[in-house]
Amino acid sequence: MNMVFVCSAPQLLKKARFGRFHKIRAREGPFFFGTQKEQTMKTNAILLIDESEEFRSRLAASLEPRGFSVLQAMNMDGARDHMRTTSVSVAVVDGLLSGRDGLDLVAQLRSDYPDLQIVFVSHRISHLSAHERLAHSLGVALICYKPISAQELSLKICGLMEPAFWRDRPQPGEASKPAAGSWLGGARGPQLEAARREYEQSIPGNFQKIGQSLIDARHAGREWGELEQAHRIAHTLNGTAGSLGFSDVSAVAYAMENVLKEIVRMRRLTSSPPAWPSVGSDGPELEALESLWPGQTKADRERTVVADVLVVDDDPDFLATVAAMGKENLIRVYCAPSGAEALRIAQNHSLDMAIIDVYLLENDDAFDIARSLRSLDGLCELPIAFISADTSLENRIAAAHAGGSLFIKKPLSSADFAAVARRLAPLEIRDRARLLVVDDDPIFCTMVAGMLEGAGMQVQSLQDPKRILEVLTDYRPDLILLDVLMPDVSGFDVCRVMRSTEQWRDIPVIFLTAKTDKEILLQCFKAGGDDYLVKPTLREELLARINVRLERVRMFRERADRDALTGLPTRRPFIDMLRMRIEEGVRFDKPVSLCLIDLDHFKRVNDTYGHLSGDRVLSGFGHLLGSRFRSMDVRGRWGGEEFVVAFYGEDAQTARMIINRVLEEVREMTFTGDHGESFSITFSAGIASFPEAGRCFDEMFRRVDAKLYEAKEKGRNRIEV
Ligand code: GH3
Ligand code: MG
Ligand code: MG
Repeated sequence: MNMVFVCSAPQLLKKARFGRFHKIRAREGPFFFGTQKEQTMKTNAILLIDESEEFRSRLAASLEPRGFSVLQAMNMDGARDHMRTTSVSVAVVDGLLSGRDGLDLVAQLRSDYPDLQIVFVSHRISHLSAHERLAHSLGVALICYKPISAQELSLKICGLMEPAFWRDRPQPGEASKPAAGSWLGGARGPQLEAARREYEQSIPGNFQKIGQSLIDARHAGREWGELEQAHRIAHTLNGTAGSLGFSDVSAVAYAMENVLKEIVRMRRLTSSPPAWPSVGSDGPELEALESLWPGQTKADRERTVVADVLVVDDDPDFLATVAAMGKENLIRVYCAPSGAEALRIAQNHSLDMAIIDVYLLENDDAFDIARSLRSLDGLCELPIAFISADTSLENRIAAAHAGGSLFIKKPLSSADFAAVARRLAPLEIRDRARLLVVDDDPIFCTMVAGMLEGAGMQVQSLQDPKRILEVLTDYRPDLILLDVLMPDVSGFDVCRVMRSTEQWRDIPVIFLTAKTDKEILLQCFKAGGDDYLVKPTLREELLARINVRLERVRMFRERADRDALTGLPTRRPFIDMLRMRIEEGVRFDKPVSLCLIDLDHFKRVNDTYGHLSGDRVLSGFGHLLGSRFRSMDVRGRWGGEEFVVAFYGEDAQTARMIINRVLEEVREMTFTGDHGESFSITFSAGIASFPEAGRCFDEMFRRVDAKLYEAKEKGRNRIEV
């Protein structure tokens, strides 16, 4: 059987799912869209035609290290000389060559070399009017405006080397057909065929994703997001495959969509595989789909690694056993016999979680290793489980204090190991950016969604702009890609409505338009858009622009939500997070403990040692709280010298012991006053738990406040439950 599932690089799928695609790209090269074969470019020679020697040499210096051989010419004659002897794949043409308009030169190049990819670098805004001619009749692959840095331009040229639609240009024969607002640029005929071919490749991967989401949902037990995603994929598959003429696929996807819709609506997985439609013998090969439901064959399962797990233990037998369990459960196990080795592995591999043995030989302390791992770049939220035969309360509290999300008892069975990995690894999925693509063209939506999902973002597409407010409310996107021309409502109208609504005023909007006249671009900004991109757009450019906007959103959010002195969330975001924990607690029948901490006699600290040293104490204590506990525990600065921590899944007594560890730690810290004096501090705390103390935040807070007061009354430096 000719297996068509996109599992030749299962890791790829997984990484894409975990939103860390950039790491793979950096390590393993740019195999993203399309097949390996398409990736190989015909030649890697680039010809620069520009009168400015300085610009040429800067660009050459940026391109050569990327593996291109760069030829340079000052004019068309020089260019011809090179073209006679070398097969050039890209020509970069400056728009202002003396004695000749750059546009004519492009026309000349196009007629002499129909296959050449041309990059046009323009100086003047007036070239906007020529954009249409360049992009469509002359088939220019990329138009850039000076000033542009050599670095940026070379990145864009690299983008051209990537396969697929993003750089498809009209064949010289059909060059004059209009683009008609299509992303694929130029005429639909050959482009649509290319789109079809490209899309065909992605079909198995999409089915695979649906299957994987179901498996994940089943194992995690509550991943409705996964199921919703499966539903969404089936939905788009149905629409797009149909539009591109894959009616078998569309029919299958339609049936799946209905099954999934029901599951999502009922919020319940059926115990047996849903009745997937079967596919005819000449249809796409989807047989393996059913085997993705648990009960699948081993051969099928081996295609997907579910997690990368670091295991730290000084017992070689245990490491060997876990490595074998990993193989059985599609988990990649990295074995570290020591803390030093664990750190080395963590620096060189991407990890989803770590399991650390509590009792290690020699100088290694399991809890220190945990803290060191989490202090590495990008690993501050790494889920960690501790393992030991000794599950005494003392050990469990030390583990929670060091950020352990789980405490596992040795011996460890293979099934337990798999359950642990599946439960913890998804914690590593970072808050992914949520993008909304609004475009009436379903093919465009699917392509952009696929691409952005591959880059680690969550994407929802909307083809009917009239539903925008409803979707904004439900989906709460971080950024919107908005088509300008749509039936009924224009992108401008959508943007204006958003800008006049307090709630949606600040969401960045990037317009996508096939039109390039100045008037339209001005209108984009007038309507309140943050940026615009001209279709067809390069993948790299789209991603770069999106990332700039998202980065800014994150920065503002961080600033608004975090207290500058302590680095902890402020009151409002803390309450929001705690409410979510309480909701989870209700749903999964778990306790949630809230702790309110107030530093003792803090006024005295300020009065005696100075306000600045008071600030240092607050900052030090805030950072201590920030670096302790597990990623699902919430902490914040309540105000002044008051702090809050909430423990998910722990009752009041356990929370008390965990906080007591912090109190011991704080008592031993020494601070320095404004005049060099040393001093230490203590705190008092009150604790209350859901569900005993109350079923909502307000009730819980009243209780902890009372308990804190009690602790102060009883002499401070203590915790009351
Ligand atoms: P108690 O043990 O009863 O809590 O006594 P206390 O002195 O800590 O309590 P009180 O509420 O009387 O005083 C809190 C002090 O915390 C007063 C205020 O100046 C100080 N404070 C609040 N915020 C900051 C801050 O950001 N920096 C500094 N240095 N001090 C602060
Ligand atoms: Mg106070
Ligand atoms: Mg105080």
